[in-house]
Amino acid sequence: MSEGSLRVVDSVQGKQHDKTIKGLLRQLVNGSPEQQAIEAGEIDAIIDYSGRNVILFPAARDALRLPAAGESTHEPVANNLLAALTQQEYQRLAPYLESVTLASGTVLHEPGEPIRFVYFPVDCLISLLPMVTGGRTVEVGLVGFDGMVGTSLALGVNVSSLRARVQIGGRAFRVSQARFTSALQDSQTLQHELNLYIYTELAASRQTALCRTLHRIEERVASRLLMTSARVRSDQFFVTQESLACVLGVRRESITQAAGALQRRRLITYSRGNLRILNRQGLEAASCHCYGRLDNLSHRA
Ligand SMILES: [Zn+2]
Repeated sequence: MSEGSLRVVDSVQGKQHDKTIKGLLRQLVNGSPEQQAIEAGEIDAIIDYSGRNVILFPAARDALRLPAAGESTHEPVANNLLAALTQQEYQRLAPYLESVTLASGTVLHEPGEPIRFVYFPVDCLISLLPMVTGGRTVEVGLVGFDGMVGTSLALGVNVSSLRARVQIGGRAFRVSQARFTSALQDSQTLQHELNLYIYTELAASRQTALCRTLHRIEERVASRLLMTSARVRSDQFFVTQESLACVLGVRRESITQAAGALQRRRLITYSRGNLRILNRQGLEAASCHCYGRLDNLSHRA
């Protein structure tokens, strides 16, 4: 099973989540040898394959820099760019990082407007959309926990050229433009990581242009679903036909047909926006493989 298909549930020392997680744990380990090991503190995490969840114990959560769900914290987070900072660099930025929950559909940046905040997604997904007269658009970039929104600041440009809209809601960290610019001047690591990330964004945008021209809609939908799954770190997510049509630049009817074909092949289930990947290997085979190319690029970066 690939890492991208598992979802981290929470720490077992969560607060309001405590009951649910303990219940889940009881189901999984009740009466088994693992129960003793858990009680002795010898286990870091449990993988629940049936629910595709990873249940973390506190030490593992701290090591992975994941804040407990619902917890407002300035502890380091599960965003690749922030995680790449040295401890010292991170500590300088941490007091200015604000934990936010972004709702689906929220617009973070508009083209031509000054950038007030940059965003580091944790488990949300942001679409980058250039706009044309009449409000029509098509996605040219997708930002998840691997990156950030507001990269033009690293090139000395304080104005967004794109609309940044939350595609799938979730957690992110944000920091003001002024603090981010100052952190960038102080941190060689952040400069280096951002240069690599901007290179990846550029390459991804070129690949997307090629994909749109050469590949069939069903292949593109499969690629896009795999890409989304990797960014939200789950095999289940919410995505409407309208939003898929918008980001892929095709008619809604084309998405209905493509999703229907993927369902008939038992690769996914899709009902009222709730999508679940049933057969990841099969979906990869049905895709145009642009997903794999982009994923490899971001791993090299
Ligand atoms: Zn493609």
